[in-house]
Amino acid sequence: MNINRAEFLTSNTDVTKLPEANKAEYAFIGRSNVGKSSLINAITRRKGLAKTSQKPGKTQLINHFIINDEWYLVDLPGYGFAQTSKKNRASWEKFIREYLTRRENLQCVFVLIDSRHEPQKIDLDFCYWLGEQGIPFLLLFTKADKHSMVKSDQNIAKFRKALKTWFEEVPPHILTSSETKLGCEQVLETIDDINKN
Ligand code: GDP
Repeated sequence: MNINRAEFLTSNTDVTKLPEANKAEYAFIGRSNVGKSSLINAITRRKGLAKTSQKPGKTQLINHFIINDEWYLVDLPGYGFAQTSKKNRASWEKFIREYLTRRENLQCVFVLIDSRHEPQKIDLDFCYWLGEQGIPFLLLFTKADKHSMVKSDQNIAKFRKALKTWFEEVPPHILTSSETKLGCEQVLETIDDINKN
């Protein structure tokens, strides 16, 4: 897919004020610092589209971008940061759960996982929850350039194995790097395929 246009549309703290649900929508989510903003910029080939290295615990916003005037890309707030309070975490959960369960044009959630780490409970729990809700998702393993392919493959295999205890069919995954652009085209092809169906 060529990216001809990529524009910021809105930032929201209120799910009732989101853009009209009249286009296919794809959301990106993951732990704080997983490389979400960098990957969104790499995929859309726009350096400053999503703001990188935001301080964890800042205002939690749902950011909508419109791509090629055709589909929405949504940058969701990062989860699982240590610095935030329980109260912040609870309000994050309510807000995001509301968005994910109610947004009728949401086609797929891309769950970002740092490929350098062994499976983390918070990521697995989030995947289980998506599964329970019947929300379609795909796994994007990030920062592949930071270590060997063998290590990424091992961590991916462990993550998939952990999900297998819950899912009959574990959703597909893509190994990515914002540095080398590994996997970026594959993410766009996946979106293209869903848009066409
Ligand atoms: P976010 O909090 O999930 O939006 O994460 P950011 O995109 O701000 O990235 C967090 C840190 O990881 C930054 O210092 C990025 O430069 C770095 N980073 C993100 N993606 C990659 C990647 O694919 N490769 C490398 N080497 N560093 C990355």
